[in-house]
Amino acid sequence: MTVSVANGRVLIVGATGFIGRFVADASLDAGRPTYVLVRPSSGNQYSKDKVAKALRDRGAILLNGLANDKELMVKLLKEHQIEIVISALGGATILDQLSLVEAIHSAGTVKRFLPSEFGHDVDRADPVEPGLTMYKEKRQVRRLIEKLEIPYTYICCNSIASWPYHNNRHPSEVIPPLDHFEIYGDGSVKAYFVAGTDIGKFTMNTVDDIRTLNKSVHFRPACNFYNMNELAALWERKIRRTLPRVTVTEEDLLSAAAENIIPQSVVASFTHDIFIKGCQINFPIEGPNETEACSLYPNEPFRTLDDCFNDFLAKMKDENMKQSDENTKQSNEIPPPKPVVEAFAITATCA
Ligand code: NDP
Repeated sequence: MTVSVANGRVLIVGATGFIGRFVADASLDAGRPTYVLVRPSSGNQYSKDKVAKALRDRGAILLNGLANDKELMVKLLKEHQIEIVISALGGATILDQLSLVEAIHSAGTVKRFLPSEFGHDVDRADPVEPGLTMYKEKRQVRRLIEKLEIPYTYICCNSIASWPYHNNRHPSEVIPPLDHFEIYGDGSVKAYFVAGTDIGKFTMNTVDDIRTLNKSVHFRPACNFYNMNELAALWERKIRRTLPRVTVTEEDLLSAAAENIIPQSVVASFTHDIFIKGCQINFPIEGPNETEACSLYPNEPFRTLDDCFNDFLAKMKDENMKQSDENTKQSNEIPPPKPVVEAFAITATCA
C-alpha cells in the first residue's frame, strides 16, 4: 500500500556514513531517483570520497553542502523537487537536523522525512549517560518534526547484525571474537539483530507506505532474536571451536559509560540498556503510532544472523589469505598455512 510519493525523489543526508551507505544503496537498488548530500570535508576524506564515487557510479546524484545550512537546503530541496528526505547523520551531529527540519518545512516539497534514528525508540528507552544525551537530542528533533507537522517515519531497527562490542559504534565492521567472548551480565537478555542491508531495504520500504506515515517502525525479526550466550554458541559453530567466556558485569558497563570517552562510552551505555535492562524487549508494540516491519512486509524475508556470521567467516578467510600473500611477498618463501576455518554453505532468510 503506497501513497503518491512512489518513485519520488529521495535525498539521503549522511550517505557516506556507516548506516547511510546501506540506505543509499537500498534506494538505488529500488530504482529510486537518489540524491546524496556530501559535506565538503571531514577527517576521513579518502574513504568518504570512495563511497561518494561508488554511489555516483551507481546512479546517485551528488549534491554538495551541509545539512545545517538551512538556506542551501531549502534551495536544493526546491530545485530538485525532493519528496523524501532520509537523514543518517552521526551521533555527534544529531542537532544539525534542526536546521534541516526547518528547511524541509520552508521548502514544502517533502512528503516524508526519516530523521537519523536507526536504533531504539528514543522516547521509551532510558540509557545512562552519555547515551542519554544523544537520545535527548534525537527526541528534540522528533518534537520539532511533530510541531512543524512534517510527515515522518521513525526507524527503530534495533542492533546491527554483528558481535555487539561494547566499545565500537560500527561493530559490523569487525569480525566476532577469536580469543574470548565478553558476555554482558549472565548473557540471557535477548536483542534483535538486523543486517545492514536489511536496515537499508526495509527503511526504503517504509518511505512511501501509508501505513508507516507518522509512525515508529520497529524491526523485530523473530529469526534474529538472540542473547549473548546464543550469539557466542552460533559463532563457535562457525569457527568450529569453543572460546573462553569472560563476564562483563553491569558495574563494568556502567564504569565504561561513566568514563565519558566519546563515542565508546555512548556505546557502553547502549550496551547496558540492551543487554542488562532489556530495552529492546521490555515493551509490546501496540500504540497507535507504532508498527512492526515483519508484519508490514510478511513476504519479504530478513537475512538471518546465521548468514551474516557466514559473511564474517568469509571475510576472515579473505583477510587470512591477504596476510598470507603479504607474508609470501615479504619473506619470498612459502609461509606455513594459516589456520582457516571453513564456512558452512548455508543461505538462510527469515520471514
Ligand atoms: P557516521 O558518523 O558513520 O556517518 C555520519 C554521516 O553524516 C557521514 O556521511 C557524515 O559526513 C554526515 N554528516 C554529518 N554531519 C553532517 C552535516 N552537517 N551535513 C552533511 N552531512 C553530515 O554515522 P552512523 O552511521 O554511525 O550513524 C547514523 C545513525 O545511525 C545515528 O542515528 C546512529 O545513532 C545510528 N546507528 C545505529 C546503529 C545500530 O546498530 N542500530 C549503529 C550505528 C549507528 P562525512 O562523511 O563528511 O563525515
